[in-house]
Amino acid sequence: MYAGIIGISGLSWLKLAYFPFIIAMTRFYSLNIIIPLSLLIPFNALRSFTISRENIVWETAFSIFLVLTSVVASLIFNSLRSEREKAVNEFEKIRAGARDRTQDTEMESLGSDELISHYFASKIKANEEIQELLHAIKHAVFADSAHFFEPHGDTLSLRCSTDDRGKVIITGKGVMATCLKERKPFFSGEVDEKKIEVGYIKDIRILSIIAIPVMEGSSPVGLLIVDTSRYHAFSEPEQKTVKMFSGQIAKILERERVYNIVKHEITALRIIKEFSSSLAASIHYDDVINKLCHYSGQAFSGNAFFFEHDTQGFVVKYFPNEISGGAKEIDFRGTLAGLAIENGHMEYVSDVKQFVMKVLPPQFRTEDVRSVIAVPLFFEGALIGVFGMLSKQKEFLDSRQISLVEVMCNQAATSIANAKMHAEIERMATTDGLTGLFNHRVFQQKLTEELKRSERHETPLSLLLTDIDFFKKVNDTYGHPVGDLVLKGVSKILQKEIRDIDTAARYGGEEFVVILPGTDSMGAKNFAERLRKAITAETFSSEGRTLKITTSIGIATMPADARTKEELIERTDQALYHAKHNGRNQSVAWGTIR
Ligand code: GH3
Ligand code: MG
Ligand code: MG
Repeated sequence: MYAGIIGISGLSWLKLAYFPFIIAMTRFYSLNIIIPLSLLIPFNALRSFTISRENIVWETAFSIFLVLTSVVASLIFNSLRSEREKAVNEFEKIRAGARDRTQDTEMESLGSDELISHYFASKIKANEEIQELLHAIKHAVFADSAHFFEPHGDTLSLRCSTDDRGKVIITGKGVMATCLKERKPFFSGEVDEKKIEVGYIKDIRILSIIAIPVMEGSSPVGLLIVDTSRYHAFSEPEQKTVKMFSGQIAKILERERVYNIVKHEITALRIIKEFSSSLAASIHYDDVINKLCHYSGQAFSGNAFFFEHDTQGFVVKYFPNEISGGAKEIDFRGTLAGLAIENGHMEYVSDVKQFVMKVLPPQFRTEDVRSVIAVPLFFEGALIGVFGMLSKQKEFLDSRQISLVEVMCNQAATSIANAKMHAEIERMATTDGLTGLFNHRVFQQKLTEELKRSERHETPLSLLLTDIDFFKKVNDTYGHPVGDLVLKGVSKILQKEIRDIDTAARYGGEEFVVILPGTDSMGAKNFAERLRKAITAETFSSEGRTLKITTSIGIATMPADARTKEELIERTDQALYHAKHNGRNQSVAWGTIR
């Protein structure tokens, strides 16, 4: 129809309108259609004109131009289309990835150790994801580059960029600063003309930018910026696109943050679990305290301390820093630890600078401490001690961690009580209730050990058996309680006279035994005489009445008098019998009988 109009009017310059027409067509049709169409149009026109030689050349040239135009236009449109498709595909890929990971995470909540470790192994690489997103943004809005900045205190750093990191130099002022401060997006297409300070510079001039603060809730966690060296490059749809992408980045950051919290919690729980199971094997007080301090320090990155409480007051068991001027007589009054003891519950100070009280008494160095927790440990109402942790960082524990510290302390308190009970049972099983000396069972054990040792070192060992003379009479005359008093008095003399390496035990009734390692018969005789004289010299008194006693002592020595333990005991007993039958109040060495 148009060709007809041109033919009738004879205005052949109207043919120029074919160009915009064919360009517009290439937007919707492929080259297979456009090329025949662009050939068809002029030849269609040709039919209605007289065919002259000049005309054919002219029309052929026109057709070639038209075909070329359509090809070029088609190429441009195709490239733009593929860029967009690429951006959309990349975005889809990221979405699919995020979906996959969500499914992964749901699987983790099943909770087995294997799954958790798998979860850590496939650690979400937030940086890679942000980087991928930046490339997608760049393509989607035809920007030169896309950057993601993160605030650290008062400064900003470039976390990810489609450019080489070295190319971007941050000044951190201008648009970047205000954008973060006001939490509002910013865009401009005339950065240069309006002399806008962007906040960073790069190798080429920035003429258009879109800056969007990345928000997590109401707080800005970063800044997404796209730039280009074209004027007025971005309009409303581009801004919306970048904003949408900023939401995706916020999700990645949130996941990263939550992931870190979960990771820390799982690590802490694992350490606490280890602590719990290791406590089962701890029957000694010091062992429990060491474990509590060691594991809690690991789980919460704090420096643990522990002050034990007994009838005398507090004793330092564990302290990470210097203690000046000794730690005797610890006075917790007016300190945070004192407050925890007084109130009978945990005290936590997230920032010591905001706290008027001292953390610990002055002899314990705490100048560099920024946050602190102190937990009094009780068992069945009795204060066992005060545990705590010091940290150079403020707010080193959150509320969940504080609860976990309390769980550890409760477990430790139970174990400490068990350890104390165990120690008490052990004491009862090894000592004699009346005199506090070792009992017969321990004497037998110690003698076996000491004999082995002296055999190994080829040194002599002497055994002493002492029996109070006419003790029945003491009981009969003064009563059984006075007899007990005498037994206790004799035990005290024994304990006073022996060396550290010697062992004194109650052999039974009013008989006591002393193991003297490294002592020959002569040495033992000297000791026996000293002991006998000390006992003879002692005056026992009860309710205004006084009495004196004497003892007889038998001595035998290894290897001179005996070859076995049983023989040694037997010979000692024989020596004692000899002393009794030869007038009592004397000591007799088995080697001197006959
Ligand atoms: P000897 O000089 O021959 O040793 O005369 P003895 O009276 O000491 O005789 P023997 O060693 O046989 O007597 C031991 C007495 O010690 C008998 C018992 O009543 C008394 N005895 C044993 N254990 C205790 C105790 O725990 N407390 C009191 N008060 N007496 C005890
Ligand atoms: Mg006796
Ligand atoms: Mg006796």
